Order: sequence, then structure tokens, then C-alpha cells
Amino acid sequence: MFSSIQIGIDLGTANILVYTKNKGMIINEPSVVAIDIHTNQVLAVGEEAKLMVGKTPENIVAIRPLKDGVIADYQVTTDMLKHIMKKASKKLGTPLRKPSVVVCTPSGSTSVERRAISDAVKQCGAKDVQLIEEPVAAAIGADLPVEEPIANVIVDIGGGTTEVAIISFGGVVSCHSIRVGGDQLDDDITQFVRKKYNLLIGYRTAENIKMEIGHALVDHPEVFMDIRGRDLVTGLPKTIEISSYEIQGAVKDSLLSIIEAIRATLEDCPPELSGDIVDRGVILTGGGALLHGIEEWISNEISVPVHLAPSPLESVAIGTGRSLAMMKKLQKSK
Ligand code: ADP
Ligand code: MG
Repeated sequence: MFSSIQIGIDLGTANILVYTKNKGMIINEPSVVAIDIHTNQVLAVGEEAKLMVGKTPENIVAIRPLKDGVIADYQVTTDMLKHIMKKASKKLGTPLRKPSVVVCTPSGSTSVERRAISDAVKQCGAKDVQLIEEPVAAAIGADLPVEEPIANVIVDIGGGTTEVAIISFGGVVSCHSIRVGGDQLDDDITQFVRKKYNLLIGYRTAENIKMEIGHALVDHPEVFMDIRGRDLVTGLPKTIEISSYEIQGAVKDSLLSIIEAIRATLEDCPPELSGDIVDRGVILTGGGALLHGIEEWISNEISVPVHLAPSPLESVAIGTGRSLAMMKKLQKSK
């Protein structure tokens, strides 16, 4: 008998990833869709669409249909998923006939939001759709022993949100989700450059500045970067040099709110599990975990060891793909 193929989808605010057990990661693309607003036609999805952001004529808009980890635009999300499924079957070299899909949902999402995600995936021809809480998927993807009665702390800094969760015995014991993630840092940088230098920069430029010279609140040798934008006074293109110290100041408040969320989650931890946290530490994942110095900074702030997940941008997708086997095991052991 044929068993249908099983795939795991990480439907992130910034990136969408598809993982299969046999072939590994088959899709890894930005969750961006370019649409012609006159005809409502989808022009491009993923990398191609992201390249269009801020560079297209007025009738073409690039949309990120997932906001704060949940579906903000249902139709566009469904269209995006359909394109992604098509790309996935191309990669696999075989049509995806009624796959079994596991998709992760943010721990802070409501049942209506979870239902919307599940329905959108079903619309794309999935035979059955199972949902898994994102922090649990991240923990499985980071090879943590989630099925044991041990506290595993996951801090997932994504594009739209940061989620902090304590997982033990296959479930979430306590969690906090805030709507501050990597995108907020990009916004902070854009605002700062605009206020201080009267220079308007695009979303991609802000993200590049963050990745190249952005630092968490740690001491570091000052580095500089040339950035380009539009002078708000003259209206002309202009290049300025910016320092990593300035950028550090610009993102400070957002980083502090991430620490607050971590503290709040640890404070909710049942005392029996607190000892595990001191021994085992906290695992950082999500693209935001790649910010320079963030491991060291968080560890200093909370006085607990902090470790970076093996592949922070991929651990949720890997965990989602692996979770089917894990779910069966968990059900058996209960
Ligand atoms: P989501 O799960 O919401 O799709 P991801 O885990 O894919 O989010 O992370 C995306 C975020 O990580 C973006 O805000 C991106 O700018 C940020 N990011 C990616 N690489 C780096 C890096 N090297 N330094 C800092 N931030 C990064
Ligand atoms: Mg994510």
C-alpha cells in the first residue's frame, strides 16, 4: 500500500520552510507575495517577490501575508501556500498527492487563528493536517529531549514575534509571546536613521545594517558601514557612514523587551523544573538569534547559560517534519 508523503511546514512571518524526512529541507523562501492590485494576480512568491519589495511600479505590491505569526491575509496566504506546494513537488520530482502535513502554530495563537492555518493548508490538497506548537517544534528540531520530564527552555526570535517557552514531557509548561522580533529591530534602525540623518532607507537596507553591524547590548569593537538612502531635505540619493554603536542604541529598547519576556517566562516556571534550567540553560533559535552578541548578552542578563540551536533559521521546520514520529511515540508512552 502507498503511504502518502509526510511534510512539515514552518509558516513563519519572515520565512516559509518545507521539510521532508527523506529529502530534508526542500523549500526555504521568504514569506512574501507580489501581487498586481489591478488584477489581483499573484506575480511572484518567495525570493523573487522579496527582491521586488520597494522596487516595483505602483500597481505591484509585495505583501507579507503573515503578521505576528498568524494569518493577516487569508487569501494571499492560501495563494502563497499553493505556489510553495507546487515548488515542493517540483523539488521532489513527483506530484504531491494528498500529503500528510504537519504545520506549526505560534503558541500565542487563538483557536480561530489555528483553524485558519489548518484550513489554508487543507485548501492546498493536504490529506490531513496536524498542528504542532511552534516552540515544541523548535525544541525537537534543536535535538532537545522534549519527551522527558525535564525543563527545556526555548527562545525563538522570529521576524514578527519572539516566543519564549518552557517545554517538558512533550508539552508547553509556560510561555510568553511578544510582538517584537527581528522586523522591529529593522523598524528601529529605519526610524533612527531618519531622525538623526534625515535619510530615508528601505526595509532591505535596514535588515542588512542589522545583520552586518547590529549588536546586542554587549561591548564590542566599533565597526562602521556605508549606507544609502534618500535625503529627506534635498530629495536626492545620499550615502552616509554609520557606526555599530549608534545601531546598538537604536535597537536597545526592543532588545530589552525580549529580555522581559524571558524573565516573565522563567518566573512562571514550576520550582521543580527551575533546577533543570540552571543546569541545562536556554536554547536560542529563530533568525534573530543570529544577531551578534545576543547569546552572551542574554546569558549575562539572566545568569543562566545560553546556547545557540544548531541551525536557528531551520530548527522549527526540521522539528515540524520530525514531529509525526515523535507524536506517535508520545501517544504510545502515555
Ligand atoms: P519567522 O519564523 O518569523 O519566519 P525567522 O526565524 O525566519 O522568522 O527569522 C527571521 C528574522 O531573523 C528576520 O527579522 C531577519 O532579519 C532575522 N535575521 C536573519 N539573519 C540574521 C542575522 N544574521 N542577524 C540578525 N538577524 C537576522
Ligand atoms: Mg519561526
